[in-house]
Amino acid sequence: MYKDLKNKVAVVTGGSKGIGRAVAERFGKEQMRVVVNYNSDAQQAAEAVQAIEAQGGQAVSVHGDVSSEAGVQGLLDAAVQQFGRLDVWVNNAGMEIKSPTHELSLADWNKVITINETGVFLGAKAALNYFKAHHQSGNIINMSSVHEQIPWPTFASYAAAKGGVKLFTQTIAMEYAKDGIRVNGIGPGAINTPINAEKFADKAQYDQTVAMVPMNRIGKPEEVAAGAAWLASAESSYVTGITLFIDGGMTLYPAFKDGQG
Ligand code: NAD
Repeated sequence: MYKDLKNKVAVVTGGSKGIGRAVAERFGKEQMRVVVNYNSDAQQAAEAVQAIEAQGGQAVSVHGDVSSEAGVQGLLDAAVQQFGRLDVWVNNAGMEIKSPTHELSLADWNKVITINETGVFLGAKAALNYFKAHHQSGNIINMSSVHEQIPWPTFASYAAAKGGVKLFTQTIAMEYAKDGIRVNGIGPGAINTPINAEKFADKAQYDQTVAMVPMNRIGKPEEVAAGAAWLASAESSYVTGITLFIDGGMTLYPAFKDGQG
């Protein structure tokens, strides 16, 4: 628990399931007030709100597409109207499309880039404008991926988007450090969420993924949420512009693990 987080107001995009849901619920445990954004699954967002309230936090679920300026503005408005302020903005919403790159349609490329990268820009822009207008410090956390660093054939749009998120995070961390606004990324590895449900249901693919993790297991959404809570809290007060990899060592070149090479 981080005492300074109590009563702070957070927006979590894509907060209805997976990692976003775990972050929203962890913020609830920290007694924060949370705007749980969803795009399509109102029921799951409502369940997230209930779970947060059961932990002693406060929450509201708000529909909004992160790839639309109006959708993102609606999240900021909800934070201010419901809870009177904004302290933390988590750009978590994301999705991926698998395709050999030479067959990837422009529409699918644009969809992945728009949600994963432009959505991060729009969320960060809304939060930055709020913090600047209120002359207050603030905290932005962008959910990136190990694929901001590791190339991922047949997921080129996703890797390109996350690579973009990395330098966007670093750039605005530098641009707004003087304003007391901290901006950091989180790079999850293989985490057990709906985005991976189909893949992990297949034992061969599950085992193949585990073999790429030096810690020899798939991560839990709560383990990613723990990093978000630390980055949101004053315990990380001198940290900005990093990507906190939460990946069981996946970014450590696991092919070398027995001294090969
Ligand atoms: P998920 O599919 O379980 O959840 C993604 C969330 O984003 C959902 O709530 C979905 O509704 C929401 N979303 C999608 N498009 C949206 C839009 N246009 N507007 C608003 N919300 C939208 O996936 P997850 O695994 O929880 O992924 C969360 C984040 O973590 C993503 O950015 C993903 O790229 C990243 N990530 C996940 C993993 C992993 O292994 N699960 C690894 C690395 C990075």
